[in-house]
Parts: sequence; C-alpha cells; structure tokens
Amino acid sequence: MVYLHVPFCRSFCTYCDFYSEIACRGRDAQLFEAYTDAVCAEASRRRDEIEATRDLDTLYIGGGTPSVLPLPLLRQMAAHILTGGVPPELVEFTIEVNPEDIVERGPEYIRGLLGLGVNRVSMGVQSLDDGILHWMNRRHDAAHARQAFRILRGAGVDNVSVDLIFGLSQLSLQTLDATVSEILEWRPEHISAYQLSIEEGSALGEMVRHGRYIEAPQEQCAAQYALLCERLRAAGYVHYEISNWALPGREAVHNSAYWARHPYVGLGPGAHSFDGTTRSWNNSILPPQQAATAPGNRATLGIVRGGTASEAQRWGRAQRDVSGGSWPLRGGYETLSAAEAREEEIFLGLRTARGIPEGLCDPEKAAAALADGRLVRTGDRLRIPEDRWFVSDDILTDLI
Ligand code: SF4
Repeated sequence: MVYLHVPFCRSFCTYCDFYSEIACRGRDAQLFEAYTDAVCAEASRRRDEIEATRDLDTLYIGGGTPSVLPLPLLRQMAAHILTGGVPPELVEFTIEVNPEDIVERGPEYIRGLLGLGVNRVSMGVQSLDDGILHWMNRRHDAAHARQAFRILRGAGVDNVSVDLIFGLSQLSLQTLDATVSEILEWRPEHISAYQLSIEEGSALGEMVRHGRYIEAPQEQCAAQYALLCERLRAAGYVHYEISNWALPGREAVHNSAYWARHPYVGLGPGAHSFDGTTRSWNNSILPPQQAATAPGNRATLGIVRGGTASEAQRWGRAQRDVSGGSWPLRGGYETLSAAEAREEEIFLGLRTARGIPEGLCDPEKAAAALADGRLVRTGDRLRIPEDRWFVSDDILTDLI
C-alpha cells in the first residue's frame, strides 16, 4: 500500500495548506525530472517496506496536483514502485487530477494513465458555481469540470471520484443544491465532500486574520451537510465515512485502509508512512515554515505584489534540494503507545459507518453515549449515527 506525494500545483487555492510548490509544465521540466529520479531512488531504497505492505496492494498518487506531471515521468515512477509491470493483485491505483489539466491534455493522457494501471481517478471539482470557483482561486470553471468529466468517461475511466467543498459563508443552499444535482446527473462512482476549514498556512487563514472573510456559522454548514446527506442517500450513494459517499461496492479501498490503520509507505516530499506502530514522515523540499508563508501563496491573493523574484529564489532552492540529494530525507517519526494507538483506532473508526468494536471504548462513556443516541450498536460494533456525524468531533472528544 503506497502513497506517492506530488508536491506541485500550478497555483495555490485560497483554502489549501497542503504541502505543495508552484510549478508549471513549460518552466519546470528539469525540476520534475529531478523529483522523479528522487522518488525512484526512494522507492528502491524502501523496497522492503513497500513489500511488507503488499498484502493490500494499492497505489495512490496524490498531491498537490499529480496531473501537472507529464506521462513519461508518471510512467517511470509507477514502474519503479510497482517493480516493472502492473501486478495482477493490484487492487486499486488512484491518481488525483485537476479538470484544467484533463481538458488541456485530452483523452490521450487519460488513456496513457490507464495504460500505467490506473483504475480510479479522483478529480477536484469543488463546485460548479463559477463565482465560488473564482473565489477559491481554482484554475478551472464549471465548463472545464463538465468537459473533463466527459473526457474521463470517453477515455474509459469507469471509477471516478469527485471532490466537493461545502461550508463557505457565501455558498447558499440553492447553489450547493444545483451543484449536487448536476454531479448526480454525471453519476460518478464516488463523491467526497469536505467542509471548508480555515488553516493557518493558507491564504484563507490570512484573509480571516485581516477580516476579509467571515467564517460560515455552524448552522449554515450543518444545513449544507444535511443537504448532501439527503440528496446523495436518495440517489443511492452509501455514506460510508463522514466525508465520503460511494455507489455500492465502489468505496475507496486505499482510503478505507487508512481508517482501518493498515500499514502504508508514503513516498515523496512531505509524505507520511505508518508501519503499524510508528508514524514517520519525509521532509518537504522547503522547510514547512517557509513553504507555509511562501510569497506565491500570498501573491495569489494580492496581499503581496511583485513576488516573482522571491518565487524564483524559492525555486532555485527547491531545485538544489532535489538535485543535490538533500531530499527526500526522513523528517521524523513518532512511535505510538498502546493508549495512543487505541485512541487513534477509536478516532478513525468512528469516522466510518463500520464503527469500532464495542470493547474499544471505556464502558461507562460508551453506555452514556448509547443512552443519549450519540452512539448506536450494530452487532458487537459501535458507530456514530449519520445524523450526528456533523458533530462527531464533540462526540469523539467525550469518548477519548
Ligand atoms: S487544493 Fe489547490 S493548492 Fe491545494 S493541492 Fe489541490 S490544486 Fe494544489
């Protein structure tokens, strides 16, 4: 089970604090190649770890924006990780893409991805309202998203996941409903809907700090979440994790294994790994504090003007780090105590419809939660009912 992090985006989205660097196809060919070589070297070096997680054979290429990378480089990395060909036991091979890349690159690129063994594509649509997409600083509009979805289907992708975002203060129920209606017409196999969160390192965090964005009230977010739950249930989607819905049998295998605490190997800058007891992580190309406050991030909002020179310096540094071998280095690790592992199992398991074994929780706390409906029992397992998932953080805090 391998996760590969591609730390490149063509621009930064307003809300995002994922580790990524601004990169574009024309300018950064050398950096992409150096990155690919470094990933292949890391995969070779960590071959034993990869083999040890192969009882569940999945590969997930996420980011950042993996679709900024040209096909030959993706092919090189996939071949290295999968040691040559696509093993017959490979259960799921997902790649994240952005609509604008799919539209620009066309069906040829998608057929190329399928040729690498990709059997699931996750596309960041976020909304089908152009005003919302513009505010998010996405590079695509609704027309691009529609076209990209058609290209994916036309090229033969039969397992597509669509990402949406809700919980924006300027998002009305009507606008969300219109987006959901159209997405349901597309009938993707999987839908993820994440509530907007204000992250400190993001441009949105800056906007909040300067009073340029007011967070949506919880009641508004709850109403939007309820709408998603209702519309997707009615359309036959199974709500199998707080933020994830799938047509029956199309649940994400790789992500489900994270929630079940299956070991995995994370390759690439900033990627995390888990061997069953120890969580470890790679360093990023830039130290996190530099990445978080990098000029490109603020420049996209117009807070900083003339960031080009600094961006070039940043890139020079990133290029040196990758080519000069100071990446990837293991950034650190944390071995979980038995108590921490149990808490993690409760926390991750109760995010899912499957829940957790009853014996995992403190019996008194579990009894109280069962009595007032915060938990329900199915066989010998406990779970949070769907109508309480929106307040699951409070429930989890009480239980752990
Ligand atoms: S949300 Fe935007 S900035 Fe964040 S990883 Fe995706 S494309 Fe890049």
